[in-house]
Amino acid sequence: MPLVLPQQCFACGAPSGSDVLCRACFTDLPGADESRCPVCAIAQPRGEICGACLRDRPSFDATLAALDYAFPVDRMVQALKYGHRLAASRLFVDLMAALPVPEADLVLPMPLHPSRLRARGFNQAAELARPLARRWGLPVRLDGIARDVDTRPQVDLPWKERAANVRGAFRVSGRVDGLRVVVVDDVMTTGATLAELARTLKAVGAASVENRIVARTPAPG
Ligand SMILES: [Zn+2]
Ligand SMILES: [Zn+2]
Repeated sequence: MPLVLPQQCFACGAPSGSDVLCRACFTDLPGADESRCPVCAIAQPRGEICGACLRDRPSFDATLAALDYAFPVDRMVQALKYGHRLAASRLFVDLMAALPVPEADLVLPMPLHPSRLRARGFNQAAELARPLARRWGLPVRLDGIARDVDTRPQVDLPWKERAANVRGAFRVSGRVDGLRVVVVDDVMTTGATLAELARTLKAVGAASVENRIVARTPAPG
């Protein structure tokens, strides 16, 4: 296989030079300029706190998302998980690093479900957290959280069962008391997993928890 060829755009197949997306598809990335709820990052016309967060405030304090989880971002996230890691992760890191630098003390990647980690061999959230922490000038603890074997992967479950499924799923190793923590993950759907992780971090003393994610699943309907 030739080592260097002009790339084809991941989304439309047009020539894209050395980039993963052509100019047009990059400009059209879904959700890039979206106003979002500052707590859960769901699209909100004026960037105000959404009704769901007002009714029932999540245990995390803030979430910033670079994109919406829609075509071609969904396919790129899958590519990140199953192979073509470098090009997609570089683009995601650039977009996430373009958002304001978090005021925080420690970066933690969302740990992968153990069965997934065994199958895949790497954690895509850690692949994002490491270069992001470097860009932010913050320390990263790649093994700062362990995930219980007993929970089922969230994707297999209906939305309303997800919160119960992840309860007690995480163990924090190392001290986080008094620290402002940034959690890096690829996709936020219901937010149940991130909320449980934030709850766990605060239970052992984290001062605040902010999520930085590649893509937010748009509200259904
Ligand atoms: Zn394209
Ligand atoms: Zn919200």
